[in-house]
Order: sequence, then structure tokens, then C-alpha cells
Amino acid sequence: MAGLIPQTFIDDLLSRADIVDVVDKRVTLKKSGKNYSACCPFHKEKTPSFSVQPERQFYYCFGCGAGGNAIGFIMNFDQVDFPQAVESLARDNGMEVPREESAAATRRQSENSKLFEVLEEASKFYCNQLRHHEQRKSAVDYLKSRGVSGEVARDFSIGYAPPGWDNLLKATADGASAQQTLLKAGLVVEKESRGSGSGDNANAEETRYYDRFRHRIIFPIRDSRGRTIAFGGRVLGDDKPKYLNSPETPVFHKGAELYGLFEAKKSNNKLKRILIVEGYMDVIALAQMGIRNSVATLGTATSDRHLTTTLSSRSRGSVLLRWRQCGQNRGMESAGGQPAGDARWPSGEVFIPARRRRPGHTGTQDW
Ligand SMILES: [Zn+2]
Repeated sequence: MAGLIPQTFIDDLLSRADIVDVVDKRVTLKKSGKNYSACCPFHKEKTPSFSVQPERQFYYCFGCGAGGNAIGFIMNFDQVDFPQAVESLARDNGMEVPREESAAATRRQSENSKLFEVLEEASKFYCNQLRHHEQRKSAVDYLKSRGVSGEVARDFSIGYAPPGWDNLLKATADGASAQQTLLKAGLVVEKESRGSGSGDNANAEETRYYDRFRHRIIFPIRDSRGRTIAFGGRVLGDDKPKYLNSPETPVFHKGAELYGLFEAKKSNNKLKRILIVEGYMDVIALAQMGIRNSVATLGTATSDRHLTTTLSSRSRGSVLLRWRQCGQNRGMESAGGQPAGDARWPSGEVFIPARRRRPGHTGTQDW
């Protein structure tokens, strides 16, 4: 069958199927304590060394080392490939493999991979500008004034978008199709058309877009896998707004992403607590002080989805919420403008115990 099977479907299927039933249909199992055993179907033996563990939904042979989950067992025993094993298991559990959606998912995935590529390229471009551009001083001075070290700037891949309308465009896009990709990734803005009949057609193609981020400090926003999915920019000149985020794109959904989560996990795999703050500079300033477990919402109120993102990034732990006294209901505009010091932090804290989420479970209603 063509196309990709959505991971969520596979998770759902595995959580519904029972590996004991799957194996027992093909090899007679004997109960042995918490587990089941049999003579291994994958190598010749007289005493059983093949075991099925219902708790872990896993099978393992101590004789030949074969092991895996229900889908893996079907592949090995029935000698079929992965999609066929999924089909077979789904059929036995009265489920239908979502074929149409899988074709759409494949298409979407290949479109998205182009966006990830161009976003990564842009991130490298901005980092380079912070190191080498002749007008980089204002950016470096600003970061220094906020106490940001080179090490932290590197850890967060902070960059610089120089002044000008087409620096990124010129550096990364040659041709109309590459420009379209930049547009889709939210990196350039389309100029408003001036209507037909203008005599100057010669440059029409080249001048349709301009860089979204100009003369700003650039903060790459990464997803939980570390892929750059968007940018935030803090103004250096007089432009408005002070903080600018990438727009929503196929790979960036503001309500679901947290700035700094990837970096926090990278610095400590077993994060027990996460501190949710308001802006990029708060995350950076805390990192500078050695507090590496803070994340920021992206100009939106903290939502259920944020907490799902946070919780699903670890199986256990707790979330610590703190919020600003003076800016509780205000957006990013207040984020960089508050004076440093204790006055910024109120006393409110909320602990939310995290629970192990079942595979395929996406709701947030049960915590
Ligand atoms: Zn074996």
C-alpha cells in the first residue's frame, strides 16, 4: 500500500492490540508467572526459551535474541513487511488503516522537509551575520548590555538580521520557487501588488518579496526534535513591533510551541520541572544565570496545548508555572521592557503533576 501510516495510528493500534493474543494465535503459549512461554518459533529448540511479557507488550527469545512488539512479531512470523503487518493487526482489531490520510501525510511531509531546510539555512545565515556583518556592533552591544555571553548566544543560536530589505532573500533564494518556499516558511513578506498596467516589468519578479526580519536580534524557535521551525526577532532600531514572531506556517503553530524547550531538554535530559516565562530574553537571561529549565510561550497565553507539549516531552515530572505581576494579561510587548530584579517575579506558583500519557492519547482533559 502506498503512503505513510500516521504514527498516531500505529500508537493507537499497539495500545489496543494485545501481544498475547497475537502470538497465541500462531504459537501455543503457556502461562508462566506473569509472562507466557513457548518453544521459540524462530529457532529450533526443545525447552522453551521464548517469552511474551504482557506488561511490556513485548516478546523475547533468550535462545536466539529475537524480540519486539506485536507488529514486529507478525512481520517475523508471517514473513510480511511493516505495512502488511499493520494491516493484519488492524484487521484483527476491527480498525482500518487510514490510507487516504497517509498519502496526504506523505505529501505534507515532503513539503515540510523543504521548509525545515530553508529555516535551517536562514538560522545559519543569521548566526553568521552576528559574527561577521559590518553592522553587527549594535546587536553585540545589545546582547552584552543584557549580560548574554558568547556561550549562551551559541547554545541558543542567537543571530542577527542586518538592516536592508533583501539580505536573506539574496543569500538563500535564487529563483521563483525558492522565494515561494521562503514565503511559506514565513521568512519573507509579499509586496502588495500595485495593480496591472505598470510599465516597469523588468524587475517585477525580483522585487515581489522582502525580508520579514530586518535589523533585529534573531532567536530561532526549535521544535522538540531541535529543528528550526520559526524565528523571533527583537528590534534594534525604531521599527515596530518591538518583538516580532514568524507567522503561523505549516510547521509552526504558536499555540503549541514553547521557546527554549529543546535547549532545556538538551541541557538536562531528566527535567523534573519547567519554568514558564514570558519572553525569549527571560529564557536567555535565566540560562545566563545557570537556570536552564525555562521556556517561553510565544506571545500567546499559556494554553492546554503548551502544557501537553511540555508534559509529553517527558513521561514524568511536574510543571512549575510562574507569571508576571505586572504583565499577566499582556503580550510580548512587556517582555523585554521590565526592569531586572525581584520585582519582576510575583509569588504565585502552580504545580501540576504530570501523568504518564498513553500512546496515541492527545487530549488534555484528564489532568
Ligand atoms: Zn529463538
